[in-house]
Amino acid sequence: MMGYMQIHRRINALKLAGACAQLGARMGTTSCISGLSYTSLRYLLYDRNSENRGRNMASVVFWYEKASYAEKAHACMFATIFMRIYDLHPAGPHYSAGEALIDSYTLYAERCHSTRLVSIDRAFLLACHLKGIWKQRTTSLLLHRCSHCGCQSIIHRDDVVGMTTQCIFCEILKKCTYAHVSRLFPLPTRRCTSRSR
Ligand SMILES: [Zn+2]
Repeated sequence: MMGYMQIHRRINALKLAGACAQLGARMGTTSCISGLSYTSLRYLLYDRNSENRGRNMASVVFWYEKASYAEKAHACMFATIFMRIYDLHPAGPHYSAGEALIDSYTLYAERCHSTRLVSIDRAFLLACHLKGIWKQRTTSLLLHRCSHCGCQSIIHRDDVVGMTTQCIFCEILKKCTYAHVSRLFPLPTRRCTSRSR
């Protein structure tokens, strides 16, 4: 018979898997985050057409190096939210790394409106490299605060020593128009709280 903690863990795993699937995660990502097997996920959440969605993605470090300004900016936005949430709620029995990932990705998605340039799968891989969790044993990426603009951006840990170059946000402000920047980072829609006459 299952004990209370086992039942709690099982329910938590199912909740995480459901949230991952809802956000469009591949089966491999959902399996890593929830700890559920492919067989269970296929039975509960994914159909046969999802088989190829379980394949591994290319290295996120390589992807980030080749990414456009907009993709890099979005990756930095997600990473900043994730690191903040992860560090505020150390992983433990009451709040797991998976919950930190789902919560931070949901916050990131809310800020993007319709334009999400970082998928949940890439967000997962970024989290792996930023914290040395799940698929990674060590951190290979980190957030670096730019000495020019104060924004935080992702860099490879080998590049941190003597880093004086401007960050991705400095580059964007230098090269993009206001309209372009507004499209990349749309302001939240303000709700009118006053009563209509
Ligand atoms: Zn900067």
